[in-house]
Amino acid sequence: MRVSIAALILVACLSVLISPAVKAQSLAEQYREPADRIIQAGMSNDGAYLKLQELCDGIGHRISGSDELDRAVRWAADAMRRDGHENVRLEPVMVPKWVRGAESCEMLEPRRQPLAMLGLGHSVGTPPLGITAEVVVVRDEDELDALGTAARGKIVLFNNVMPPYTSERGTGYGQAVRFRGRGAQLAAAKGAVACLIRSVTAHSLRSPHTGMMRYDDAPVRIPAAAISVEDAEMIARLQARGIPVKLTLKMEAQNHGEVQSANVIGELRGAIHPEEIIVIGGHIDSWDVGQGAHDDGAGCIMAMEALTLLRKLNLQPRRTIRVVLWTAEEVGLHGAKRYAAEHADELDRHVAAIEADIGCFSPIGYGVDCQDAKRLSVAAKQMEEILNLSRTLAPLRVTPGQSAPDVSPLKKPGIIVMGHDTDPARYFDYHHTHADTIDKIDPRDLQVNVAVMAATAFVIADMPQRLGAVDNR
Ligand code: ZN
Ligand code: ZN
Repeated sequence: MRVSIAALILVACLSVLISPAVKAQSLAEQYREPADRIIQAGMSNDGAYLKLQELCDGIGHRISGSDELDRAVRWAADAMRRDGHENVRLEPVMVPKWVRGAESCEMLEPRRQPLAMLGLGHSVGTPPLGITAEVVVVRDEDELDALGTAARGKIVLFNNVMPPYTSERGTGYGQAVRFRGRGAQLAAAKGAVACLIRSVTAHSLRSPHTGMMRYDDAPVRIPAAAISVEDAEMIARLQARGIPVKLTLKMEAQNHGEVQSANVIGELRGAIHPEEIIVIGGHIDSWDVGQGAHDDGAGCIMAMEALTLLRKLNLQPRRTIRVVLWTAEEVGLHGAKRYAAEHADELDRHVAAIEADIGCFSPIGYGVDCQDAKRLSVAAKQMEEILNLSRTLAPLRVTPGQSAPDVSPLKKPGIIVMGHDTDPARYFDYHHTHADTIDKIDPRDLQVNVAVMAATAFVIADMPQRLGAVDNR
């Protein structure tokens, strides 16, 4: 008994002595060598840009419910099989099918001019001859309320300005986008016959920006479209001078119920704890304009190629890294919600889930979030160390309390959800437009993002303790 107590005291003393040294041998120390190998290999690897060309030039945009989305899903699974990944599979998801059809918006008075427009996703169409009415311009909800009954029978234009990005304030997207989502409901409640919004962007070369709108349980469904910033400003100037503006909006848009799509999955199985999972991914659907290059082809390719890079380097981590390409994000996170439901019985074995869905510019860091505040604070500190391993590529910071859309349904107590963030300064210039094409992506930025994601995912999957573990478990 006495011996064992003495031994215990000795062990306790030693652990006190040793633990600072062990702590000094931080994640950064332990993983410097493999991280450097990943970064070096990543920066001489062209696989990601080739894949992005196959997706963007070979398939093109891929809206929920489209044949192109089906092709993209099959292409991604084939590409992952070709790269030798394990458990490559499609998990069926029912997704909405909305078809834009032909559409136009023409100013009739004070002079005729076609406007640059895109109907909003999920909007109803107009009658075949369109809706012709006078326009009333408001900047926000207060100005709409102040109109009283003056919006009745009119087309309401929400000319809400999205402020430009600054590093202190971030993007103004979150604020400005609310009229895209709810503008039609607000306008219909005032008796308007259609809703236009100023495109949600801070910089414009007369590109209209589409995106999802919703009616919720609004009793009247009026058509909704975005016009370019330039056209919205012109109409606002005309109205300010007291000149009535009349226009015709024509939209063939139709909702066709739900069709089957799929989330695409592939894995690098863990060597010691294959049942524990780190998810990396992006969303495979896009809008039906441009090529969905920044949003979110690049995010999908980053995850696919990060896995391929680790496999090529024979770096098999303790835990499993699972690529998930979620379907139908743009129209309501359908793939992400389905994934969380489908995998409910193994969510306690999900350690972390990372999505890249803010374009492909220079990486700036990770948003890190968790329902459990204690775990979040531990994980945020660990992530600072982990991201520090990629500091030769870019200065990377951790932003606690943020993540990304498709990992949000995985925000459960034990899971660390994260967003792989790139410089957002120009992202919303291209977002949901005809201009979101592969030529807007610098191949080197793509390489850097793949390397950062691969190094980060590898360390999280291999570190002895679970990311964010507060009790050494
Ligand atoms: Zn996206
Ligand atoms: Zn989007």
